[in-house]
Amino acid sequence: MAAANPQGDVTPKARIIFLGPPGAGKGTQAARLAEWLGVPKISTGDMLREHIAKGTAIGKQAGPIINQGKLVPDELLVTMIRERIAEPDCKQGFILDGFPRTVGQAHSLESLVPGGAATFDIFDMEVPREELLKRLGSRQRIDDAGSTVLRRLQEYDVRTLPLIDFYKANARFHRVDGFRDVEDVQKDLRSRLEKRA
Ligand code: AMP
Repeated sequence: MAAANPQGDVTPKARIIFLGPPGAGKGTQAARLAEWLGVPKISTGDMLREHIAKGTAIGKQAGPIINQGKLVPDELLVTMIRERIAEPDCKQGFILDGFPRTVGQAHSLESLVPGGAATFDIFDMEVPREELLKRLGSRQRIDDAGSTVLRRLQEYDVRTLPLIDFYKANARFHRVDGFRDVEDVQKDLRSRLEKRA
């Protein structure tokens, strides 16, 4: 249950960030956790794909970048997230799947959320590169084609991996072995949240 604090804000049930490379299982695990906790899952990849499908200005800008396996500019993502987490369903918490992905985005998130990083649980999903290539090779997304996958992994290594240093001092930073059965990973995530509740 959410409780009111002296400032009158609602104490969030959970704020969670999923880190990890493409194919690590962030989306799958975030969706299950969101259902269990009763908070929304915010996937920036899904939001961008929706913009592309609808042919919005954001979609037109992001489409070619996504298809090349590159990261979309920070300003665009930060605006999207700022608006999304201001919606009423995020009052009691939310799960971020695919954001932040750069140190710049992580800095921006600090100013968007009262209390910043210290109020988040961060799950860093670790999966061997060989397994990632296997998983991504069997998906049907346009940006899962061979050379694009390598580009996405390279973007991850260069621009997202430094986020681990940004967050690892956080008391609620969790390294998670993502090279396990989906259910085993999910149980692990839930038990870590329960332990610190
Ligand atoms: P995903 O579904 O999370 O793998 O995202 C698909 C693509 O959307 C990525 O390869 C990026 O091109 C773009 N994207 C999603 N989230 C972000 C983000 N936080 N920053 C920059 N680009 C993003």
